[in-house]
Amino acid sequence: MLRVPSHIQKIEPYTPGKPLEELEREYGITDSVKLASNENPIGPSPLAVEAIRRAAAGLHRYPDGAAHDLTAALSDHLGVAKACILLGNGSDEIIGLLTRALLEPGDEAIIPCPSFLMYDIMVRAAGATPIFVPLTDLEIDLEAILARVTEKTRMVFLCNPNNPTGTTLTREAMTRFLDRVPPNLAVVVDEAYMEFVRDPDWASGIEFPLRDPAVVTLRTFSKAYGLAGLRIGYGVMDREIAELLNRIRPPFNSSSLAQAGAEAALRDRAFLEKTIATVHMGLDFLYDALSREGIRYFPSQANFFLIDVGQSADTVFDRMLREGIIVRSMSAYGYPEYIRINAGLAEENRRFVRALVKVLTPR
Ligand SMILES: *Cc1c(COP(=O)(O)O)cnc(C)c1O
Repeated sequence: MLRVPSHIQKIEPYTPGKPLEELEREYGITDSVKLASNENPIGPSPLAVEAIRRAAAGLHRYPDGAAHDLTAALSDHLGVAKACILLGNGSDEIIGLLTRALLEPGDEAIIPCPSFLMYDIMVRAAGATPIFVPLTDLEIDLEAILARVTEKTRMVFLCNPNNPTGTTLTREAMTRFLDRVPPNLAVVVDEAYMEFVRDPDWASGIEFPLRDPAVVTLRTFSKAYGLAGLRIGYGVMDREIAELLNRIRPPFNSSSLAQAGAEAALRDRAFLEKTIATVHMGLDFLYDALSREGIRYFPSQANFFLIDVGQSADTVFDRMLREGIIVRSMSAYGYPEYIRINAGLAEENRRFVRALVKVLTPR
């Protein structure tokens, strides 16, 4: 018998939102609306699609392993040195590179709970120990995190805005936290939804010194840039950490199509602005409609938010599916009566509200 390390056996597999086509087949529905995976409702950036088409002619070549053009474009865009930028096959991959490069068995990594499920998986895959610190009123509790830091702590994850609650950490809170946390650990700030933030007090990890503690900021092209299927994200970090991750990174972890698509998307300001406007309009419509129906929800700084359905979220998920609407049940995140949806197009949002009201009305 094959011997599987016990820390790998303990990992709970990540269950992604099911693809639309699969659900439609399973449930015999058509024309369904997917609001379960925080995807971009308006599609991919057309400039990115065009760049990918052009880049396809060179598919017989290996990609540029250093991703020179995209790295230079990001360096310009962010105002950070090229040596501080590391690309990944989605920002998911960078989480895995960080945990493998910086953690070993016996080390602890602090993870707010609930937050993005990949942190737990990647910490365990590295053989290290996740330490969960509950949110307070849906917000990451920095005081509680500081209280859990020990000499074994090597990493702290901060998802800002936090998935699945949509809450943010202010500049002031981040400053106070980074001043007080020991200098010998890494603070990983995941900003997958930063483009949607409306709170003027929000601050990016990129604004803080990269060292002591090591602040690693993660961003992605999967959400606001509409390129989730392409798999490309990046991290901004101290150059010594980037060098370390480069040693264990697969040399061609971002494909030539991903590099070309992301570079074009970065230049497609009009698409980004249209995405943000669509999402904000969608959220405001949904908040308003739910308020009027007396359904409790939690406003968010991301492109998604939580709704308290006051009954089993798994049941509501199932009944919404039969109405052709795919939502995310939060039971796996410790909220058995909450669902999470992302803002969709105007017509999708209207259909969602109609279906939810129908599903929640006692028969
Ligand atoms: C979607 C998401 C990501 C992005 O993952 P990719 O691998 O870049 O697609 C990262 N963090 C959080 C919290 C997310 O929700």
